[in-house]
Amino acid sequence: MGVCVKSTDNLNTTETNSFMHDIVLIPGDGIGPEITEAVTTIFDEAGAPINWVRHTAGLTAHEEQGNPLPEETLDALNEYRIALKGPLTTPIGSGFRSVNVALRKKFQTYSNIRPAKSMPHIDSRYDDIDLVMFRENTEGLYIGKEKWVEKDNHAESIAVITREASEKVVRAAFEYAQEKDRKKVTLVHKANILKFTCGLFMEVGEEVSKDYPDIEYEDIIVDNMAMQMVMDPHQYDVIVTTNLFGDILSDLASGLVGGLGLTGAANIGDDAAIFEAVHGSAPDIAGQNKANPIAFLLSSLMLLEHLKEDEVADRIRNAIHTTLADKSVCTPDIGGNGTTESFTKAVCSNLS
Ligand code: NAD
Repeated sequence: MGVCVKSTDNLNTTETNSFMHDIVLIPGDGIGPEITEAVTTIFDEAGAPINWVRHTAGLTAHEEQGNPLPEETLDALNEYRIALKGPLTTPIGSGFRSVNVALRKKFQTYSNIRPAKSMPHIDSRYDDIDLVMFRENTEGLYIGKEKWVEKDNHAESIAVITREASEKVVRAAFEYAQEKDRKKVTLVHKANILKFTCGLFMEVGEEVSKDYPDIEYEDIIVDNMAMQMVMDPHQYDVIVTTNLFGDILSDLASGLVGGLGLTGAANIGDDAAIFEAVHGSAPDIAGQNKANPIAFLLSSLMLLEHLKEDEVADRIRNAIHTTLADKSVCTPDIGGNGTTESFTKAVCSNLS
C-alpha cells in the first residue's frame, strides 16, 4: 500500500541527505503554519530523518500567486509522491473549488484513512475508543459535477460511484484489518434510498468480504450508524464508507475521542500518499497560538510509520502522551491553559 520514498530514489540526492526521506511540506492556511512549525520543531528535536521540500497551496497560494494549486507544487508532488499537507481553506458557496479534493483525485489517493483513538489524560465522552475509518476519497458527491438548472432556484449535484473505486477502498479496509489483526469491518451506506450508487457500494462490500472469511463483516445505514456511534462506539473496529458519509462520520469519531485537535489522517493511493489532519484551517483561532498541533502530529506519525520509521514515531507518540498529563502546557480545546508553542516545547523536552 502506498509509497516509501528515500531521497536516494530521487535524482537530486546529495551526499549529506542520503539517509533522509524527501517529503513535500505544504503548511496550508489558517492554523496550518502554526501546527506545521510545531511538527517540524518536534521532528528536528527527535532527529526524524526527513528533508522537507516546502511548497504552497490553498488560499495563501491563491492570494499570493493567483493560483490555489501552483504548478511548482504539483511538480514537486508529482516528483516525490509523498507529502505532509496542512489544512487548506476552501471558500464557502463560491470561489475556487477545493484543492484537497483536486489533490485526492489527481493523485488517486482512493483511501482516506482516519483513525480515532482515545489518548491518555484526555477528558472525553468515552475511554478505549479505537476506530479506523476508511473514506472513499475520489468520487461520490465530491466530483464537482454541479449545475444550475435554473439560476438561484434549482441546482443539481451528481454523485458518482464506480465498482473500481469502491473495490479499491473496501479492499484497502480489509487488508488493513487483516494486517493489524482487527476483527470486524463495517460498511456504511444509504442503499435504501440511493439504490444504484450506495447499492453498488454495498454490493462490492459483500463481494470483497468473501475474500476475508476470518474478518467479521456487516453493513449499516448511515443514519443508524450516526446514532450507534454516539450510543455505543465500542462495537466498531474498521469502518468503510463513501466520501460524504466518511467526511461527516470521521468528524463525529473525532468528537468521541476529544475533538478535532486529536485525529490524524492519511490519503493513500497505489503510488502517492498525502498526510493531513482531519480538521480544517480553523480560521476562528488562526494566528492566536491556540491551535492544538496533536492532530497534525498524529498525521505526521502516520507518515513516519508509512516510511517504516517506527522507532522515532513511537518516541514522539510517547512524548505526546507524557505531555498530555500537564494541562498547563496543553491547548484550550483539550482543557489546557497553554498554547501551541508551550505544548511543542514540552513535547521536545519529554522526547528523551
Ligand atoms: P475546522 O475543522 O477548521 O474547525 C472546526 C472547529 O474545530 C473550529 O471551532 C476550530 O477552531 C476547531 N479546531 C479545528 N482544528 C483545531 C485544532 N487543531 N485545535 C483546536 N481547535 C481546532 O472546520 P471549518 O471551520 O468548518 O472549516 C474551516 C476551513 O477549513 C474551510 O475553508 C474548510 O473548507 C477547510 N477544511 C479543510 C480541510 C483540509 O484541508 N483537509 C478539512 C476540513 C475543512
